[in-house]
Amino acid sequence: MEDCIFCKIVKGEIPSYRVYEDDSAIAFLDINPMARGHTLVVSKKHVEFLSDMDPDDIGGMFRAVGKVGDSIQKRLNPAGINYIVNQGRTAGQIIPHVHCHIVPRNDGDGLEFHPKTIDIPEDEMKEIAERLKV
Ligand code: 5GP
Ligand code: ZN
Repeated sequence: MEDCIFCKIVKGEIPSYRVYEDDSAIAFLDINPMARGHTLVVSKKHVEFLSDMDPDDIGGMFRAVGKVGDSIQKRLNPAGINYIVNQGRTAGQIIPHVHCHIVPRNDGDGLEFHPKTIDIPEDEMKEIAERLKV
């Protein structure tokens, strides 16, 4: 898609520190990293939301996520990793082209990914689960 930064990176029109590429996805370092090795795995197809993707394309993208995550774990040896997909502006998606953040974590790094929780009554939990059944 024209005017999409990630499409331009996929096509090589914008430079990036690329660490992986296959038929479905590419991976490159985030330009504003939260940690050393913060990587973005980006679908080669321009789709805005994960939930609009073809299941095979989701499979392809997450196979790449698995490979890059494995490489980060083995080569950087972080204490943990956050895998994050933001969908929609409210959820923090700034680039409207589906991607997964891989953020290496270490004790005391100061990053916070644990939002507050809410209490939901049992009957409502049951109702929500019914509504979500696929
Ligand atoms: P989002 O908030 O959409 O989930 O994350 C988009 C990410 O893309 C941000 O972390 C941002 O730093 C990164 N980003 C935006 N533009 C570029 C770019 O031109 N090159 C690279 N490597 N990363 C980018
Ligand atoms: Zn795009």
